[in-house]
Amino acid sequence: MSLLQPQLPDRLKSMSDEDVHALIAASKAKLGDRCVILGHHYQRDEVIRHADHTGDSLKLARIARELERTPYIVFCGVHFMAETADILTSPAQEVSLPDLQAGCDMADMAETWDVEAAWDEAMAALATKERDAGKENRIVPVTYINSKASLKAFVGNHGGTICTSGNARAVIEWALARGEHLFFFPDQHLGRNICKAMGFDPETDMILWDPKKPLGGHTTEKIRAARIWLWQGHCPVHALFTLHQIKKIRAESPETRIIVHPECAMEVVDAADLSGSTEQIIRAIESSPEGSRWAVGTEKHLVERLAASHPDKVITSLNPYTCLCGTMNRISARHLAWVLDDLVQGRPMRNRITVDEKTAAASRVALDRMFTLN
Ligand code: SF4
Repeated sequence: MSLLQPQLPDRLKSMSDEDVHALIAASKAKLGDRCVILGHHYQRDEVIRHADHTGDSLKLARIARELERTPYIVFCGVHFMAETADILTSPAQEVSLPDLQAGCDMADMAETWDVEAAWDEAMAALATKERDAGKENRIVPVTYINSKASLKAFVGNHGGTICTSGNARAVIEWALARGEHLFFFPDQHLGRNICKAMGFDPETDMILWDPKKPLGGHTTEKIRAARIWLWQGHCPVHALFTLHQIKKIRAESPETRIIVHPECAMEVVDAADLSGSTEQIIRAIESSPEGSRWAVGTEKHLVERLAASHPDKVITSLNPYTCLCGTMNRISARHLAWVLDDLVQGRPMRNRITVDEKTAAASRVALDRMFTLN
């Protein structure tokens, strides 16, 4: 989701980079512990240098939940992350997203009204069999945290939960132990990669649900036969990593280890040496011996930061061209400076992200289930 972002004021546009960083530092000093800046690993260097905490979605969600005494949280990430922070904090706390156009293309691929329509179709497809077996409501919905608050609320209201790339396996194991079928939103690749690693066959155990087609493009029989239904969504950034790139690196530099994010396609994850969340990628590289060579399949800012902070290792992007998340990249130091300066001046928090209480309450049910699982 991206909202209308007001233009930066001229005074900030014309300020030198140095002055912008000085303004942020001065604002942070004045605000003290009243304000915390959270920065996702895919943020620009000019932003992440000011973050009080950095992390992936799971780590930042956990931190937001613990910031009980912090009235202002500035979330340098994308819209669903700021929504999640608002859901996990009290009504007295305020969350800002410094550029309202920082959405997530993957989250936008699962509109809640499409999910609700698909759910009704899926329940109807199962109805006879499930009733006969006395197993109504045995579809367990799980959404990747990269989704809108309304979808988080949907899974909360239907006995499901939320996962991140760091805990997806534990969450999916929980869901499949509870239900006959898993309905996984919105990232088909994360769902497929994790379920395959658990031993499920992508051809016979999984179907891809196309929301534009009746019954997701399948027959009732096929829906009933598949344990795992994957929503047809994906991350356009991680789609830029290919098997061809892996084969090229294997041929040119066999000693290079390849690590990719599970949002990459199955053939890419299968051919890589390792796959994991951004935190897991960081840990694998940090713990590797001096002189290690890595090709990394995730967003460019993280790969470049890893390379800069580990000069004893050779760290490159798996894709030699730019794999940048354009929406993450929207947030600049100037946007951050604007939000902080407004707070210092006593103005209302700029770009506040709020989730209505009904949606937030149902989303919290789903998030709390996730937190109890790991
Ligand atoms: S990298 Fe992909 S999943 Fe992550 S915020 Fe960007 S579009 Fe969304």
